Amino acid sequence: MKELLSILKNPISIKLPIICDEYSLPLECFKNVDKKIENQGGQKVYGWRIHNVFNLWYEAERHTVWRSKSGQLIDVTPYFHLSESEFVEDLSGWVYNGMREDNIRFSPYSTSLIKDLFFVKESLTKISELINDVSDKEADYVNIIRGIIDLLEKHILIVAKDKNICYCKSGIQYDDCHQDYILDNVNAILEHFKDIYSLK
Ligand SMILES: [Zn+2]
Repeated sequence: MKELLSILKNPISIKLPIICDEYSLPLECFKNVDKKIENQGGQKVYGWRIHNVFNLWYEAERHTVWRSKSGQLIDVTPYFHLSESEFVEDLSGWVYNGMREDNIRFSPYSTSLIKDLFFVKESLTKISELINDVSDKEADYVNIIRGIIDLLEKHILIVAKDKNICYCKSGIQYDDCHQDYILDNVNAILEHFKDIYSLK
């Protein structure tokens, strides 16, 4: 966690209560906070919501919370059934401009399985930004990437932490087994999107 906080350039993470209104929607923190301010005053505070995933890695997701007039910080965006969220304030002066940003990920376990999972997740974000109006064929590519993420995540959860055995049950290390297959597939899909959507 210390490493993640150093990437986010703020040493302090805080637990916030999640208190929503009837209009609050999941994944719509920016709109939820704007509406809250419209109704009750206060301010928006930019930062990240921190997700601890299976105790294997962290994802820092761009997030906005509400500061009430009395100065209390409240997360006004629902997250499943949780009543509390972990929040790190952005101290850099960053302002939301409507663009989606990828999560920042950090794992203390540097297996190639986890590294590749992060790469595939980044790839999915890049592609998702490009395709609002996709043909069935492009949607298939997105589903392939989602399938790979699902496969790697489920497998990493089973082998956990420092183990790096391949998902295919060969008993061989992932690096010597299906790593090339995964990376070749994802890179081929990225190339395809580069060609047709001039993805960088
Ligand atoms: Zn394999």
